[in-house]
Amino acid sequence: MTTCTTCPYCGVGCGVIASQDGTIKGDAQHPANFGRLCSKGSALGETIDLEGRLLAPMVGGIETGWDEATALVARKFSEAIRDHGPEAVAIYASGQLLTEDYYVANKLMKGFIGAANIDTNSRLCMASSVAGHKRAFGSDTVPGTYEDLEHADLIVLVGSNLAWCHPVLHQRIAAAKEARPEMRIVNVDPRRTATSQLADLHLSVAPDGDVALFNGLLAHLAASGRVDRAYVAAHVNGFDSALAAAYATDAVDSGLSADDLAIFYSMWAGTEKVVTVYSQGVNQSTCGTDKVNAILNCHLATGRIGRPGMGPFSVTGQPNAMGGREVGGLANMLANHLDIENAAHRDAAQAFWASPTMCEAPGLKAVDLFKACADGRIKALWVMSTNPAVSLPDAQGVADAIKNVPFTVVSDIMARTDTGDLADVLLPAAGWGEKSGTVTNSERRISRQRAFLPVPGQARPDWKIISDVAAAMGWGHAFAYDSPADVFREHAALSAAMRPFERDFDISGLAQLSDAEYDALAPVQWPVPEAGKGRARFFADGGFYHPDGKARMLPVTAPAPVASGQFHLNTGRNRDQWHTMTRTGKAPRLGTHLAEPYVEIHPGDADALGLGTAELCVLSDGKNRAILRSLPTDRVARGALFAPMHWTRQRATRGTINTVVQTGTDPISGQPALKFGRVRASRF
Ligand code: SF4
Repeated sequence: MTTCTTCPYCGVGCGVIASQDGTIKGDAQHPANFGRLCSKGSALGETIDLEGRLLAPMVGGIETGWDEATALVARKFSEAIRDHGPEAVAIYASGQLLTEDYYVANKLMKGFIGAANIDTNSRLCMASSVAGHKRAFGSDTVPGTYEDLEHADLIVLVGSNLAWCHPVLHQRIAAAKEARPEMRIVNVDPRRTATSQLADLHLSVAPDGDVALFNGLLAHLAASGRVDRAYVAAHVNGFDSALAAAYATDAVDSGLSADDLAIFYSMWAGTEKVVTVYSQGVNQSTCGTDKVNAILNCHLATGRIGRPGMGPFSVTGQPNAMGGREVGGLANMLANHLDIENAAHRDAAQAFWASPTMCEAPGLKAVDLFKACADGRIKALWVMSTNPAVSLPDAQGVADAIKNVPFTVVSDIMARTDTGDLADVLLPAAGWGEKSGTVTNSERRISRQRAFLPVPGQARPDWKIISDVAAAMGWGHAFAYDSPADVFREHAALSAAMRPFERDFDISGLAQLSDAEYDALAPVQWPVPEAGKGRARFFADGGFYHPDGKARMLPVTAPAPVASGQFHLNTGRNRDQWHTMTRTGKAPRLGTHLAEPYVEIHPGDADALGLGTAELCVLSDGKNRAILRSLPTDRVARGALFAPMHWTRQRATRGTINTVVQTGTDPISGQPALKFGRVRASRF
């Protein structure tokens, strides 16, 4: 028997057909991938064994039952709230959660505990895009659809190694270019990557040089008469101030030559159908939100948005980063794209939930949340489906901060993780293939993840674990769900109840799904105001979500280049691994691609340090050290380094790169600057 479900890795959200014997195939009917899979998706069947799984609740390292563990978690959280207030507890969740899990966790924290200290690893992924969208559109809306990548005549990939990080989208673009060789592709990235090989032009932009690059483009569009004056007059505010900021910027600060700038600007200006795809190289920066708005400015100025083959396109890292956004999964959001800082929105959500209290302000964002753990403000912490002691910047500081919390719960599928080893209580979660729910991919498409394996041991789905703790805290009436379908219907019904508020997100057409209809739900792009009717694109004819219905162009300025004498450290993904390798590390063939922690370094820098190939290189931020194999390559520029983010301390004692990445964040989005560390390098 086979089951149609969705890949649990990246934000492409590919449909897969899975069998209990581990056979995995791409789903030819799924509109994200039409049967394609990448190496990670193809190897899913090799990752579903039970080795290393957490199969029972553990308290203080001793196996216990659910009743005892649930009661203990509820009591410790209730005591922390009673003694120190609701701000003294926190949840750190994950884009690996299904929408139903995410919804219940947010409802508990924001509507019942009454604080907003729930943030997720999605903060590391696309918080700058959310902030940029909201500033420009008045809503967190991805305007386009994957098909636009096939309709475009020019695709600009900014800060995105799509070939490794969103491989099936890369495959779709490669196929489109093969069919239409006149399609042009530009890759904007300080580093030459596998993605650059498909590009007609690779622009080795300076780290954080993107604002200068796109401000220069805006100035060029204005000077060359390419601004769509009619679209701007009808649908956009802020053009003049954005252009003034662009004129005040020196495009040379992008680090590119005048010739390269002229070629790129001419291409972009002269091509109507242009899609600008961007990812973590844009988002993970201390000026990530400004970078996003610099890109959006150019599309708004030309009206190249929401029509086939044109628009800005943020691709998310995780399978359900978008679903998390829909349920208010970040500390500065409320469910259903309601605004946490809008009292009418908060009141309406509270009335819908019939909740006793409500958060009144945004909570702590990821980096600040763990600083609050370090300085003693957080008395009880619950980490769900993620490994912040490895994946956050200053990973050792985060591990020390977690140790400092009086009571920590970790719910996970694995018995041993760097974070789980620090917990007082471990709760066994059901994993991919064992649990059911929905996810939303980067093009706003809601797809079902369906179970096809028995749930092992005492593991439970996250929505059930959270609901049981909520019930033990005294709120059982509001968390009496029997199934993920129950949770989803409530999520969709909230959408119906919030219709009086003008918002982009609307899935009210799914509020009446029967269990059978939910189970059979076909992939659909929101909004879904009527069952079976999704929407591919937004904004071709305006209709933005600021009160006046217009978009806003933002005056953004480029950061001045900083010379520090240290190496600039860029971090990211390998082709065949996912996050901290919890699952992909189980598939031997995925380990053969790049088997050890390594650092890419320019051959000239390697020579200067006396480093040969595969010798041990020490990176230091002055406080901590990481030790990696050197990989001399001219894919990186002089003074630049690249290292993958996957290795935990458990897999490679000194290979956890985030121990030497500092905690700088974007002041608007709170997203950590994981692409811009400063380190010293030396031979071991
Ligand atoms: Fe999974 Fe992403 Fe690969 Fe698709 S592209 S199979 S969603 S990892």
